[in-house]
Amino acid sequence: MDSPERGIRLADYEAVVGSAVLDELRVVASRVEGLRLQNINSTAVGGGVAEILTRMVPLLKELGVQASWDVIKGDQRFFDVTKALHNAMHGKAETITPQMIECYRDTTAANLRNMTFGGDVVWIHDPQPAGLIEAKKNGGKWVWRCHIDVSSPDARAWQFIAPFVDRYDASIFSMPDFAQRLSIPQFMVAPSIDPLSDKNRELDQGFIDSVLEKYGLDPERPVMTQISRFDRLKDPLGVIAAYRMVRKRHDCQLVLAGGDAPDDPEGAEVLKEVREAAGDDPDIHVLPLPPYSDLEINALVRGSTVVFQKSVKEGFGLTVSEALWKRKPVIGGAVGGIRLQIIHGVTGYLVHSPAGAAQRAMQLLGDPALRKRMGDSGYMHVKQNFLLTRHVKDYMLVLLALDHPGEDIVHLC
Ligand code: UDP
Repeated sequence: MDSPERGIRLADYEAVVGSAVLDELRVVASRVEGLRLQNINSTAVGGGVAEILTRMVPLLKELGVQASWDVIKGDQRFFDVTKALHNAMHGKAETITPQMIECYRDTTAANLRNMTFGGDVVWIHDPQPAGLIEAKKNGGKWVWRCHIDVSSPDARAWQFIAPFVDRYDASIFSMPDFAQRLSIPQFMVAPSIDPLSDKNRELDQGFIDSVLEKYGLDPERPVMTQISRFDRLKDPLGVIAAYRMVRKRHDCQLVLAGGDAPDDPEGAEVLKEVREAAGDDPDIHVLPLPPYSDLEINALVRGSTVVFQKSVKEGFGLTVSEALWKRKPVIGGAVGGIRLQIIHGVTGYLVHSPAGAAQRAMQLLGDPALRKRMGDSGYMHVKQNFLLTRHVKDYMLVLLALDHPGEDIVHLC
């Protein structure tokens, strides 16, 4: 996979994060230079993993790591199985039948036959390609990078995945709450956003207004937005319920924007439910967006007054950092990695119900000074913790640690 956004160079990040951060990156890079790092996931577009790899791979390459990115192939049935597995690992009760396990094993076997595994390190993202560990006999170190909230997985789903995971050399989870009982080392690395990508870079007000206009939004009236795949774990119906409560007291518009991911077969069904729930309310804008709508998503968030991420389960939720970076207060479900990004009462509000989300939205809509204060704090929080430069450094440090098994201290100079 290659990034559609070419032309962003490491040096360009200096204006955002300062030269010391880049100097540090170059020092760490000098210790892992030349290493071949093969990433494998299950989709080239749609969802946070593809979003991260799109920007991570070119930056690693520029730092001298020979990073590459491959995507496994699977049919609709396989992705039905892996979506059920994904939901179950998030803790949802799902039935994992012997037929589903057979389908997973068959597709894994086909990918094992058709792919080449050539890295010094093979970095496998999430459960869909986890079974590729069978190829480990070809050498190299294998790392399982889990992006899911596995703090309380369905026991049978975890029992299915864990024997694969235990054969890796190491695992990476997004936060300590997700750590597991495993026989292999576990690293904690939070995801990140790219401040220079089309999704996040600064935009002219004229462009923002033109996008709002294109989608029938009135820039003079408050806009509340959630950007997410149409997935029940993102609770779009809860957002609509919250909006309806807010509407009794405040004039406002709601945007629910999201696209498909080829590895998420439930999207069309959830989109239908969302459309039914929205009914004929002209102020609810349900926007299914094609892949690579990054500038438009950026503009929709920048044109918003308040952003929701009302997930009921969430590995991280890049959309939260994306909105905080744009100085928007975020109202998010008090789950998973959202809790790393929303500091309650400082960068936004953590909520447990549509009523809670509505109450916080009303508070924010009625208080521009509070929105400004929270927006500024959110921007700083992301700058300090959730930018790509920190993420790239953490990944290079994991590569370095893999090269020094059992050592507590690795000297860089
Ligand atoms: N996204 C997008 N188009 C959409 C919906 C989402 O580009 O229609 C992006 C969103 O901006 C974010 C990523 O997809 O960068 C979603 O990542 P997140 O971690 O929030 O959730 P995931 O989909 O991985 O569960």
